[in-house]
Amino acid sequence: MKRDIQLVVLLLSVIGCSLASLTLWKVMASRERALAEVDIHGLNLTQALSTYSEGIVRQSSMILLGLVERLETEGSGPRQIERLTQLVSRQQPLMPQLSGITVYDRDGRWLMSSNRPIPAGANSSDRAYFIHHRDDPSREPFIGLPIRSRANQEWVITISRRFDDATGQFAGVVAVTLGVENFLRLFGQIDLGHDGAIGLSYTDGSLLVRYPFREQDMGRNFSSSPIYAKYLIDKSVGTASFTSSLDGVERLYAFRKSDQLPLVTTVALGKREALAAWQLEAQLSALVVSGLLLLTGSIGWLLIGAMRRRSLAEGELRVTQQQLLDSNQQLERLAMHDALTGLANRRCFNETLAQELGRARRSGRPLALLMIDIDHFKRYNDSHGHLAGDACLQQVAQRLAACTRRPPDLLARYGGEELAAILPDTDCAGAARVAQAMLDCLALEPLAHADSPFEQVTVSIGVASAQGCDLENNEALLARADQALYVAKDAGRNRLHIG
Ligand code: GH3
Ligand code: MG
Ligand code: MG
Repeated sequence: MKRDIQLVVLLLSVIGCSLASLTLWKVMASRERALAEVDIHGLNLTQALSTYSEGIVRQSSMILLGLVERLETEGSGPRQIERLTQLVSRQQPLMPQLSGITVYDRDGRWLMSSNRPIPAGANSSDRAYFIHHRDDPSREPFIGLPIRSRANQEWVITISRRFDDATGQFAGVVAVTLGVENFLRLFGQIDLGHDGAIGLSYTDGSLLVRYPFREQDMGRNFSSSPIYAKYLIDKSVGTASFTSSLDGVERLYAFRKSDQLPLVTTVALGKREALAAWQLEAQLSALVVSGLLLLTGSIGWLLIGAMRRRSLAEGELRVTQQQLLDSNQQLERLAMHDALTGLANRRCFNETLAQELGRARRSGRPLALLMIDIDHFKRYNDSHGHLAGDACLQQVAQRLAACTRRPPDLLARYGGEELAAILPDTDCAGAARVAQAMLDCLALEPLAHADSPFEQVTVSIGVASAQGCDLENNEALLARADQALYVAKDAGRNRLHIG
């Protein structure tokens, strides 16, 4: 039963562990899936946004190329500038992201501004893009860091090219300004949740635009951020997860470096927000599994309780059964044994004699009987009392029993102070030897009997044995033994007589 309970506990433990580990595995797999989906979503967005930004920069570059071409072929005199202004005023509405186009001469003085009249004495020779073109003969477009427009104080990004005079000397700069606002408007239309962010940066980590907009981030360098310091070193497109140094929020990032332009687009989603749906699912799963585990545990507990109770009842039943068996055995013993001497009783003697007679008849082997009677026992009782007589009877029975050593031999109390022995497979001589042994046994350690002529307790024994056809009559053997006993008595007692 203990083993059964252990098996039930083992079974329930296996079920519980399997359920818990399966759920854990499923929840972790669904977390991986949720994160992978966020990554794919982020990468797709960086693709779209990067294409958008690249398009604007390319369009701006193309406009600049046309203007530079004109300025270099036609020069930058007032008439040419006038014609250029008209051209720009036609071009600009075609590209709404464009805030303005400005032309500077070699000293940084404003030659043309598409947005407004040139302020008196306006000079931009201190601007980074102007210094870059003045000092760098490269004719490639230059994307500058965000600056506040001197025209309207708004944050703008400049894309500029230099133009040269006929001798190949630096003649000035044409710059296109793109309002950061335009980028923010587009970025703002993309739903990235509360903690989401979109960034457009220079490859060196200088921030051009970030949504949500924060004044202090404009132009800031984030080269120490893991995206620039770690991920972009190995690959130009990828995903990452880390805590932002800007606001301490853990985010899932997707980044993409432009193939041709020195631009990096990043899309970030708050990790907690991104995993909110998964978290809810995980909590629900945990709740359901806890409930199931609780149910399984309770059923197991009830089952084990029932098994214990059954085992207890079975134990009690077994004890009762054993007690019954013991009682039956005792009853059987009482029914077949004599209470005083512990020897087989008359009933047992009769049954055994009938069996042994049958057996001897079948086998053809001899069967012997001894009829034993204590001599002058009445006198013993008279002088020592009935109780002492009983004790003497017990002593005699004990000693004589020791003389019948073979297992099938049976010594019984035949009645009163008379005993009888059944000796299967024993002929007359063998039976006489047993009878003699009994007489010797009593003589060797005498029990005092002052009123006997022998001054000790003695017995007389009638011996009879039969074999084959002599065994036909059941009573004959008994009668012969009995007769022999009387002969022994008559002959003076304390002896045996073979009948
Ligand atoms: P004998 O030598 O001729 O056998 O003489 P006896 O006195 O032994 O024979 P008798 O038949 O005259 O007496 C038998 C006595 O055995 C009678 C009775 O008092 C006694 N006796 C029989 N059964 C018991 C018993 O269970 N306990 C006691 N204490 N005495 C018994
Ligand atoms: Mg007697
Ligand atoms: Mg007698």
